[in-house]
Order: sequence, then C-alpha cells, then structure tokens
Amino acid sequence: MPSVSFLQGAIAAQKYRARLLSHILPRNLSTMTTKSRWCVANRLLKNSSGLPFQEAAGDEKFRKLVIVRSRFLAAFGMARFESIFRQPAKASHRNSRASQIKSLSRSFLLAVLFLTVARLAAAAGEPSPLGLEYHLYLLRPSTHLIQVEIHVENVRQPSLDFVMPAWAPGRYAIYNFAKNVEQFEATGTRGQPLSWTNTDKETWRVDTQNAGGALTVRYSVFANDLTGSFAQFDPLHANINGGAVYMYVSGHKRDPITLMVETPTAWGQGTKVFSGFSLSTSQRTFHAPNYDRLIDTPMEISTHDEATEFNDHGKVFRVVVHAYGEGTESASRWTKELADGLRKIVHSEMSMMPAPDFQAYTFLFHVTPFITEGDGMEHLNSTEIILRGETGGETLSQALEVAAHEFFHLWNVKRLRPAGLGPFDYTQEVYTRSLWFAEGVTQYYSYIHLLRSGVWSREEFLSHLADEIREYQREPGRRMMSAESSSFHAWFYDRAPQVQQTDFVNSTISYYNKGAILGMLMDLEIRARTGGRKSLDDLMRAMFSRFYDAPASTYYLPGRGYTEDDILRALDSVTGSDFTDFFRRYIQGTAPLPYDQDLAAVALRLDVSTDPGAPPSLGVLTQPAETGVRILAVRPGGAADRAGLSRGDVLISVDNLSLATQPLQERLRMYPPGASVPFMVERYGERQRIVVKLDPPMPDRYRLAEIPNPTAQQIHLRDEWLRQRAGN
Ligand SMILES: [Zn+2]
Ligand SMILES: [Zn+2]
Repeated sequence: MPSVSFLQGAIAAQKYRARLLSHILPRNLSTMTTKSRWCVANRLLKNSSGLPFQEAAGDEKFRKLVIVRSRFLAAFGMARFESIFRQPAKASHRNSRASQIKSLSRSFLLAVLFLTVARLAAAAGEPSPLGLEYHLYLLRPSTHLIQVEIHVENVRQPSLDFVMPAWAPGRYAIYNFAKNVEQFEATGTRGQPLSWTNTDKETWRVDTQNAGGALTVRYSVFANDLTGSFAQFDPLHANINGGAVYMYVSGHKRDPITLMVETPTAWGQGTKVFSGFSLSTSQRTFHAPNYDRLIDTPMEISTHDEATEFNDHGKVFRVVVHAYGEGTESASRWTKELADGLRKIVHSEMSMMPAPDFQAYTFLFHVTPFITEGDGMEHLNSTEIILRGETGGETLSQALEVAAHEFFHLWNVKRLRPAGLGPFDYTQEVYTRSLWFAEGVTQYYSYIHLLRSGVWSREEFLSHLADEIREYQREPGRRMMSAESSSFHAWFYDRAPQVQQTDFVNSTISYYNKGAILGMLMDLEIRARTGGRKSLDDLMRAMFSRFYDAPASTYYLPGRGYTEDDILRALDSVTGSDFTDFFRRYIQGTAPLPYDQDLAAVALRLDVSTDPGAPPSLGVLTQPAETGVRILAVRPGGAADRAGLSRGDVLISVDNLSLATQPLQERLRMYPPGASVPFMVERYGERQRIVVKLDPPMPDRYRLAEIPNPTAQQIHLRDEWLRQRAGN
C-alpha cells in the first residue's frame, strides 16, 4: 500500500527528526535552504518524488528528516474558567465591544476573577494584576496584517513593558516574533498619545505616567506563515498561533485575559472560529486564565473548514479540517475517515493514561499542497497539524501518525513536563536535557497506540521501530552526541533559522529518533526485569501522578516539572530495579544500544543486511548540478573523505562518463567494492582528477525478526507487548 511504503521510510512524527540539508548548505548551493531544518515535513520530503537530493552509492540518508511536535489553573479553580470558556458569545459580535463589556454576567465573572487574582497576588507579593482585554481585528486578508489592540486597566506603574515572545512553546527555536510587528502606538484614557521606546528588539516600554490609569496599545502583525508556530491571515483563513501575535505585559503574564475577535466582514455570517477555547464556532469572546494559556490555544478562522466530533471517556473531541482546493464532498469524506481513525487512537491513549483535566480537545488539521513542509504542534487541549499534499490515503496515514504523537503530548510534555518548561521565559532559550523523553518517548507511544488501536498491524509497528533503528545506526553523530545532549542543543536545530553552514549532518542526532528507540528499550527492559508485571505504561502513569498531581509550584499549571534525575528515580521506583547504568550508558552516554539483549526478551532480534543490488559506497550526499552532481556532505571516514573530496565539490564524471547524464549511483553500480575509481572534480572553477577507493555498500535493511526456538516466557512477553486492545 502506498501509505505503508511512505510510512516505512518516514518514521517519525511531526516536527521531528530528520536532518535537513540546509543545515549543511550555503544558500547559493541549495534550493532547499528553507527546508533544511529538522522538521516534520521531512517525512513529507522523503515521500516526494521531486526530491532534489541523491544519495550516492547506498550511503546514508543524511537527509533525514524528520518528522517528523482541568484542572489547570494553578492558583484558582479551573472549573470556573472552563465554564466561562464555553459560554457562547452573542450572535451579533461586530462592533459589539461596548455591549459585551456591559454584559452583566461577564462583568460579574471578571470582577470575581479580578478580585481573586488581586487577592492572591497581594498575598504573594506580586504586582497588582492589570485588567487585560485583547482585541484581534481581522480586517483585510490581502494585506496579511492582523491588528491587535490591548486595553489595560488598573495601571499604577509609571511605565509598562509590552513584549513579543522570542519563541513559542513546543518549538525550540528563537524566531523573534517582534520582527513582524508594525505601527505600534499607545494612547491613554482620553485618547492622548503616550510616548514609548524600544528597550530591546522585542520590548516596547510605554510611559504611563499621564495615561490616566488605563491605556490602549495598538500594533499590526504581518502574518503569512502556515506553521505550528507563526500565524497566517490571508483570503482563505486566519490561523493564529498566539505567540506570534500577542504581546504580553512584562510582570503580568499571570493575569487573566479576555480576547475578542473580529472576523472579516467579507467572510460573512458563515465564518467559523475554532479553538481549544470553546465548542461554539460563533463564539467571538474568549477568556484565558493567563497569557501562557492564551498563546497555548491556537485559533482557526475560516468559512471553509470541515468539522466533526466524537466522545470518549466522557470528553468531547472535535476534528477540524481545512483542506485547500478540495470539494466539500471529498473534504467531508476525508474528515470522516480521519475521525474514525482518531477515535480509535484517542480511545487507546485515553484508556492508558489518567483522564485529562479538560472537557474538550480540538484537532486542527490543514491539508495543502501550497507549503514546503508540514508541521505538528502540541497544545494543552488542542493541536495544530499541517500536512503537505491533498486529502487522500497518504495524507490520512500521515494525519493519524502525527495525531497519535500530538495527542499523547497532552500528558507527556504539556502536563508531565520537564522543569523549566512552563511558565516560560519567552525572551530567551530555556533548557532541558529531557526532550528525548518528552518527544522521543512520545513518538514511541504514537507507535504503540497506532498498534494497540488497530490502525497499524504488528508488522507495521515493528517495521517503524526498525526504521527508527536504521536511521539512528546510520547517523555519524551517534558516537558524538548523547540523547541528553541532543535535547539540550535543540535550539540549534528544531527548525531554527539557519543561514550559515553547519556540520549537523555529521555531528548531531535527533532526540526524536534516539528517544523513540530508548522508549522501546526501556519498555522491553522493564518488561524483562519485572517478568512482565510492569511496562513503560506504568512509568508514564507513575510520573504523571507524581509530578502533575503534586502541589502547584507556579501559577501556570498544577504540579511541578521533573528533572533528568526524576525520570531515573521514578523508573527505579516503579520497577524495583536499578536503571542507573542504563541511563549512564544510553541516555547520558553514547554507548552502542543493546538491541539484541532487549529484543530477546520478546523473542526478537535485529536483523541487518545489505541489498544485494546496492552499489558500492562513495560516502557522500549529493545534489544534481548543471555539470554533474554537487557534494552536500561527506561522511566521516568514508571513501570520499579518505580521498579528500570536499563539500561543495562538483563530481563531473567517473571514468570519463558524465554524471550530468546518468545518476551517480548507476555509474557506481558498475564497480565492485574496493575498486579505485577516477573522478573528474570541479572545485572553485578548477578541474582535477581524484581517485577514490570505493567502500562496500552500507547495510540498509533493518528488520525486527523472530528468534528461533523462543521460550514460552519470551512469547508471552511479546504477545503482551504487541497486544491489540479490545474496545478499539
Ligand atoms: Zn512532539
Ligand atoms: Zn485554515
């Protein structure tokens, strides 16, 4: 099936793994520069026939990619806010600010909220909370400009700092959203202009001494990127990720916010607003308990979206699909098929983990050919999933795979979270060494639940795990970078903008990739050490209980974050076994992973072989060039490296046979491993002859195979591990 072949190459989920070439290329060498980040979309690239890269002679797929990323109010009860969230707005919302503000019920609720927060803040020595009302004006889609107004009341300070985040949670990349801000201005209660100055690239300091106790800030945001991090406002829709749009008031992220949205007049009464804030598409007024929650709730506004919903474990799950260029009939059919699959996955994950503290969860999907890469982004009670392509079987498989990952995030990372991840410092990088757990183990659980739910067969599940292992084993960086180090340095490559060349292709690994493998190994080790009494599921539940059910340590969410040591301690506690050495070797270190030892517990082994027809290996990653093929990366220690070939060299011919007219791999197929082959090489305009001694092809077939003569215990553990659950 096409979907299977796609998935087999693609392993990962969402913003995920793969390494892109732009990391290693100067702009003038690659048309792929903008794609060269670790990203979800890489998996989409893997599947695209027009991939401009070739791998030479059975060498690494350097291009990996990726792929493929209540009770909550800490200080006060969430139930109160949830009830507010679900209040439908009045039908007439245009220019209705005045009437809404006068709404008695709302005013009363806000007053209660305000007083509650004020009291708590005073008790905690915090600055007195502000009254914050945000307005989002979507007026002219063709300009891609979103107008934002922030009304601030209870202003007692001589100045207030309005700050655009430098990054948004879930994507560990400094994006400097302030770069898209235009036309900032501030006025006081009588409409008088207030002076302001930028104190750094993302902070607007407003002089409030003559404001009159309240002020209004206005600015525009240029928004034309459909991703899980930025925003897009165009004639088709407004897709809002709050970190790219909303400023916060420094020192007041914890203050409650009311948001009012004004949709384009031309879109008419059929305009629908979807978000994790509400279930009513006509709602235009929303309440967030704090700024962090405001920007953790993406919003999709359009007249095109398909929507359906289902229930599971007493919760509502809404599926929203914006499919570009699709007729209503095909989009509706795809949405229904998607919802059928999501229902199974959601049920499987909800059955494993404690009930989450929300009443409703929203899946926001986009399917469009008009993007270079897809994305996936987790949120507290919603997710944004963006797929490149058109609605069909292939994107359906991708959608379910990414959704299985993002949905598991509602426990792992959004609630059970590394210390330091929330409340966030949006002005600079925050660090954790645990993304291998937050992202990689989430990836493993996406596979587990695709299996348990019956969306995947056992064979598909094992095939995906083998693909993860293949990807990792072919990484030159696996000997240099640990899972913790990869996590810590995510800021370099989680879709961070890259202009200069890097050696990431050789020096790094993906915490998605190794983390998924570590999830599998930990699961198998736990099962083996406890004789099948425990599994990784028990660790996840125990950690969720231990950290999310703990007393709130901040205003942001219940519970507290975990440290790297906390994972080890929880694992030891759950299993009654010492995992210190496992952590030291495989998580903090770069020791070879114990595949066969752990797989043996479930009567499997790793079977690695080479395609009999594979050409010998040159050890380069290349891209077609006008006169031949250009070297994008050289594998350390490989044939090309030993011969002195270099990144940027253009291979013109081999044995005087042009490489512009026939693929490099086809040319190399003529030679046996060990052959010395003369290349004509162009370097900075000069041509020279370089002889390369070719290596044997790299093993490229990875399979989890059954071991002969397994014991009853091994078979029992395997059946438990691979069991598909009734009720799905
Ligand atoms: Zn993720
Ligand atoms: Zn849309």
